[in-house]
Amino acid sequence: MPHHPTPPVPPRIGSGGPDSPRIEPGAPASTHRSAGRYVGRFAPSPTGPLHAGSLVAALASWLDARASGHSGNRWLVRIEDLDLPRCVPGADHTILGQLAACGLVPDEPPVWQSTRTPLYERALQQLIDHGWAYRCGCSRKAIAAALAARGETPARHGELAYPGTCRDGLHGRAARAWRLRTDVIPPFFEQNWPSAPVKRSKFATFSGSNDALRWHDRRLGAQQQNVALTVGDFVLQRADGYFAYQLAVVVDDAAQGVTDVVRGEDLADNTPRQILLQRALALPTPRYLHTPLVRGANGEKLSKQNGAQALDTSDPLRALNQAAAVLGLTPATATVPAALATWVAQWHALYNREP
Ligand SMILES: [Zn+2]
Repeated sequence: MPHHPTPPVPPRIGSGGPDSPRIEPGAPASTHRSAGRYVGRFAPSPTGPLHAGSLVAALASWLDARASGHSGNRWLVRIEDLDLPRCVPGADHTILGQLAACGLVPDEPPVWQSTRTPLYERALQQLIDHGWAYRCGCSRKAIAAALAARGETPARHGELAYPGTCRDGLHGRAARAWRLRTDVIPPFFEQNWPSAPVKRSKFATFSGSNDALRWHDRRLGAQQQNVALTVGDFVLQRADGYFAYQLAVVVDDAAQGVTDVVRGEDLADNTPRQILLQRALALPTPRYLHTPLVRGANGEKLSKQNGAQALDTSDPLRALNQAAAVLGLTPATATVPAALATWVAQWHALYNREP
């Protein structure tokens, strides 16, 4: 049986029940793909309430959808709660309340990644069936030791580039994680999806000359990374059984028909891994825009991990103005809806969508 690269089907929230509108034959079955040529999303992890930095990404993705010029534009919220041990109970609803206070209300009911495991399982199985994923028995310590033996020391805060130890088998160790083979280059992926009409994105290309993946970021410009050298074969499913962020994001963005990813710059270097996975799964590549980060007094990115304060939405206009300033927008007074309308008008001139 050939494997058909059917994109995973999103859960049919609010459909299929007796009260759902009947879908006429020939009518598009999903509003995700049919409603417009712009679908954006904000995808917070519920590890705590929103802080000033996360509001910047939320506001940017909302503005980009509304400024897209597509009357059918949609802005979605996806709760990325796969890493359950790090999630804080109730933080998801706190975040949704904070967004609503700021006038940022999703166009569809939010989705929770923890309810979508079958989609990730199916994607992983496709990669396994093609021989592009393999089991790894290495602990972090074992990876560090293997790298040290080669004279490589990871940079501070840097990720360990996986040295490929288990590509040829587990050598008697217990299987822990699943990894993607990054020595399989995108043209090979595409040859192996003969029935997949994957449109080559002008926003991401693969250079065969130096094995670098090149892509265009709407704010940062031309980017490139050799994933095999910089990151190595990366994890798809973790040793603790949770699906890795990279796989879940790629599967969900495709399932939700996301055309534009707008998120914080700290995630920019995840993009090539995600593009590689899109190619391996025969999924389209969205456009990317990575927004400036809010930094604390110590110069480090503001995050829940380094003690960022929860966003105070008792004065939403003040909170929004602080986020808008980071994005280069002018201060706005009066009301939240008026401020958002002002910024939608400014947005298009600031962040063009074409390279
Ligand atoms: Zn390994």
